[in-house]
Amino acid sequence: MDAVTDSKAALGEKARNFVSNTRKMLIDGKWVSSVSGKTFSTIDPATGSVITDVCEGDKEDIGLAVMAARRAFEDGPWVKMIPSHRERLLHRLADLIEENAEELAELEALDNGKNKAIAQAVDIGIAIETFRYMAGWPSKITGDVLPLSVPIAPDQDFFGYTLREPVGVIGQIIPWNFPLLMCAWKLAPALACGNTIVLKPAEETPLTALRLGELICEAGFPDGVVNIVPGYGHTAGAALTAHPEVDKIAFTGSTEVGKIIAREAADSMKKVSMELGGKSPAIIMPDADLEIAIPGAASAIMFNQGQVCCAGSRLYVPDNLYDAFLEGMTENISSLSIGSGLNPENMVNPLVSEIQLERVMNYIDIGRQEGASVVTGGKRRGDTGYFVEPTILAETSQDMKVVQEEIFGPVVCVQRYSDVSEIVKLANDTIYGLGASLWTRDVGNIVKIVPKIKAGTVWVNCHNILDVAMPFGGFKQSGYGRELGKEVLELYTQTKSVCIMA
Ligand code: ADP
Repeated sequence: MDAVTDSKAALGEKARNFVSNTRKMLIDGKWVSSVSGKTFSTIDPATGSVITDVCEGDKEDIGLAVMAARRAFEDGPWVKMIPSHRERLLHRLADLIEENAEELAELEALDNGKNKAIAQAVDIGIAIETFRYMAGWPSKITGDVLPLSVPIAPDQDFFGYTLREPVGVIGQIIPWNFPLLMCAWKLAPALACGNTIVLKPAEETPLTALRLGELICEAGFPDGVVNIVPGYGHTAGAALTAHPEVDKIAFTGSTEVGKIIAREAADSMKKVSMELGGKSPAIIMPDADLEIAIPGAASAIMFNQGQVCCAGSRLYVPDNLYDAFLEGMTENISSLSIGSGLNPENMVNPLVSEIQLERVMNYIDIGRQEGASVVTGGKRRGDTGYFVEPTILAETSQDMKVVQEEIFGPVVCVQRYSDVSEIVKLANDTIYGLGASLWTRDVGNIVKIVPKIKAGTVWVNCHNILDVAMPFGGFKQSGYGRELGKEVLELYTQTKSVCIMA
């Protein structure tokens, strides 16, 4: 691994300029400092050094942002804007993201640590697709005409119909694993439905959200429609959740914080949607094609250093394939080059923060103590930056903490099974239900097993494939509500029934 001392040297001019100033927050169409004057530093995970400082939002800043969003929702150009104009703005924003894709990918790689080329193809690429797909909706969101039969006035003429209206001011709280993509998943549908927004990016990775804010202004969205307030969860995030003028909270993050937010939001009966943690199984069937399944299962866990809510972190392998599978997977992941994400050759990049590094190393220790065997990896790499070797914990069992709890790192738990009839029970034996993958050549397995898996997404012979047309969300404690696809319109509209007596 090459030790990197100055990541900024690898940046293009635009990204370098962006991180050469303290970054402000976007409230009511203006870039402002925090009311308290406080800032916080955002850290480069490849070196542990400060990238730049960012204005730190707290309760007062959230209050200003929420009131700006409220004004923009009640009055002004956004309310009067015809749907096709809203569509044009969303398309214009998608175009601007595309024009600035390289800079955004560099900022993402610098702030989160991830591979720059992958950031450009996946994070930025899907963000663009998300804005384009959602741009199609404003002119197509419709209510229904309802055939009424009012028994107490059978001779009277009535006309009944529904309107699909925006929910109002939306508070959006997002995590650090896909910072720009999470902005897109949250903002694009909320805007398509006509809401206004206060978005709080994760404190670990505020940069691309703030750069996106500049592009939102450049695209021509009216002031106050999108407000972006960086800050910490227990201050800015909590203030957003508690604010009485926020109509809905859309959250992506840990199940632990999701529960806190759901409780807090209940006080003011805010609508809430939750995309939370996971411990997704990858199920290898005895007939699986190993040429596909081995690299597939490896990337199911190693993509984004395992910092993916639907990562394939529990791997179930049948007796007949177990040895070959472990050998192939070990070879696959131990050959990946480890280093800074700003060098696109490096496929294993740092974890996002020191806290995350400690958390993952702690889980690896717990796995060892619980009796798992470390087949490969298991160590921190280097002493600067937050690198962890891709790790396989084998001979794990259902009752182990490492099998039940979300590690959110490049650590897979491999479990051997002998009885195919037990596999669904093993896969579902978790509090989570976000994703699952099934690796098989037998269509009969697919037809029989898919309906029994308790997860919001089931992949067959692939894993982690996300498409804007496909609804995404969780069963069980992985959350509620579905983002993306047509179903996301349910999260950002509410129905009004209208009854006219003639
Ligand atoms: P992760 O485990 O991925 O770090 P978290 O659930 O801790 O995820 O954080 C996801 C987002 O939730 C971040 O933007 C964070 O600031 C925010 N957050 C954390 N705690 C709270 C809280 N008590 N109220 C509101 N937001 C919070």
